[in-house]
Amino acid sequence: MTLCARAKPAPRPFARRSVSSAHVTVPEAPARRPAIVVVDDEPTVLRAVRRDVQSRFSPAYRVYGAPSGAEAEDLLGELARRGEAVALVLADQRMPGMTGVELLDRARRLYPKAKRALLTAYADTDAAIAAINEAQIDYYLQKPWDPPEERLYPTLEELLDDWEADARLSDADARVVGHRFSPQSHEARDFLARNRVPYAWFDLDRDAEARRLLDLAGVPEDRLPVVFLRDGTVLEAPTPLELAGRFGLPTHAELDFYDLVIVGGGPAGLAAAVYGASEGLRTVLVEREAPGGQAGQSSRIENYLGFPNGLSGADLARRAHDQARRFGAELLTVQEVTGLEARGPQRVVTLAGGEELAGHSVLIATGVAYRRLDAPGVETLEGRGVYYGASLVEAEACKGQTVVVVGGANSAGQAAVYLSRQAGRVLVLVRGASLEKSMSHYLIEQIAAIDNIEVRTGTEVSAAEGNGRLEALRLAGPGGEEEVAAGAMFVFIGAAPYTDWVGERVGRDARGFVLAGPDVTASEAHRWPLERDPFLLETTLPGVFVAGDVRHRSVKRVASAVGEGSMSVQFIHQYLADG
Ligand SMILES: Cc1cc2nc3c(=O)[nH]c(=O)nc-3n(C[C@H](O)[C@H](O)[C@H](O)COP(=O)(O)OP(=O)(O)OC[C@H]3O[C@@H](n4cnc5c(N)ncnc54)[C@H](O)[C@@H]3O)c2cc1C
Repeated sequence: MTLCARAKPAPRPFARRSVSSAHVTVPEAPARRPAIVVVDDEPTVLRAVRRDVQSRFSPAYRVYGAPSGAEAEDLLGELARRGEAVALVLADQRMPGMTGVELLDRARRLYPKAKRALLTAYADTDAAIAAINEAQIDYYLQKPWDPPEERLYPTLEELLDDWEADARLSDADARVVGHRFSPQSHEARDFLARNRVPYAWFDLDRDAEARRLLDLAGVPEDRLPVVFLRDGTVLEAPTPLELAGRFGLPTHAELDFYDLVIVGGGPAGLAAAVYGASEGLRTVLVEREAPGGQAGQSSRIENYLGFPNGLSGADLARRAHDQARRFGAELLTVQEVTGLEARGPQRVVTLAGGEELAGHSVLIATGVAYRRLDAPGVETLEGRGVYYGASLVEAEACKGQTVVVVGGANSAGQAAVYLSRQAGRVLVLVRGASLEKSMSHYLIEQIAAIDNIEVRTGTEVSAAEGNGRLEALRLAGPGGEEEVAAGAMFVFIGAAPYTDWVGERVGRDARGFVLAGPDVTASEAHRWPLERDPFLLETTLPGVFVAGDVRHRSVKRVASAVGEGSMSVQFIHQYLADG
């Protein structure tokens, strides 16, 4: 048996095109320090907060002060005109003329990615909580903030870490030249963003710099996307696996044998990696795209315990990934698991390129995938204006346009709120008669408060139209058929599990979800080979466990996936102890 055979050709799960690379000298984009803007109408407070922020963050950031909301807005406008990055706006709530909340709401339009925090006196706490909901402010800090080491810096550091992880800085590790409506360009950008590789994007249709870079490198347009690395390497039409290799993302296992092999790097798999590795299990996680799973695509998760202001899925994924690595788990990306079998006591998974990973136990945490929307024209426009899930990298390109969100669950609601910041108009299409049955109350309220979101119930997409990219949608609603010009459509219409690969010995329900614990005993007892009952998250194949959305009758929430992933490690310990 060949385990972890590194000599085998690496799998190319997304590969479609050949790759070539060359070296050219492309001038580096100039690096500028990003800005922090602090705003307070009381001169002594402004001086104090600016001094404290500067003393901690000034080597990496420039700190500006503004004595009113209006002046802060002017300053932000000026910074935007100069093309400078703003990382954080920290504003006092009670200011004459324009409150902190009003300013932070306006700041969002100029700098959608900047972190925005409110400084409040004790009595303003209610306003701050309301603001978090309405204006999607990232945090509120209470005055006074002494000592800043305890009451100011930890929060600001977290916000700035998150911003940095998300920011497309001009000193990015890569510059990507492509076409907005090319699925290959979309795939490369999505891959870099989800794997936290800072890159700058240049659209051939919109940025003169894109043409200049291509000419400098002598690359023809039919080789897009083209990725320019800092060391001068130019990658033409690279696959995600090629990109992973270039940016040092681990794609091959280090050991021959593991205690726990986790398949899937969403919240369930990442939680199992953290608990498994922290409790001394030799743990490897295999993820076919990027850590974070569906949650990694969520613009703002608001109901996860311990994050009263919500957090983006990308932040959650980044934190969990770093935590798992810190405890010593191996995390392999861009590797797809295609098979699972039992060889005596060993459980062995096969990767798409033929490589194998063996261990005492396996956790299936492969989650679910969005169903495809079945209407004429949709399939050919996929990646060309039609996207499944909230493709956050595309949101920026929707400025001023009409975008359509299809679906009535929380994921669709979050996407609508997120997109409303850039898009001119967001149309949410819901097949049912209302949102109440499928969406959380807090999201329905948020949507109702946003002027440029329109919800259409009883409405479906009957066709998508466009020449090379989405241009219009035909909608069928209570009033009949209608054509709507649309720049992008984001689809969230239910999900199917990723379980084609698990093999015959793992029992599944009629829809493909994996059965475990009491569900095995109830309906598949004849397939269970041992005297003892299966553990709560154990499948029909002893030593193979399941957690998260992929499990039969799971809750389909981040917290549940994290809970099950963590719990599974306890059962795996018991399984290993039983021999
Ligand atoms: C846009 C959006 C917003 C959401 N918002 C919220 C929210 O606010 N609150 C909330 O509680 N929940 C939310 N959810 C739901 C939540 O994200 C999911 O319940 C959760 O991510 C499930 O975690 P999981 O680990 O079970 O599966 P997933 O997150 O689906 O992760 C599974 C992972 O397995 C990988 N994988 C699949 N097959 C293979 C294979 N063969 N080989 C290797 N890897 C594989 C996938 O690439 C994926 O990364 C949202 C979902 C979406 C899409």
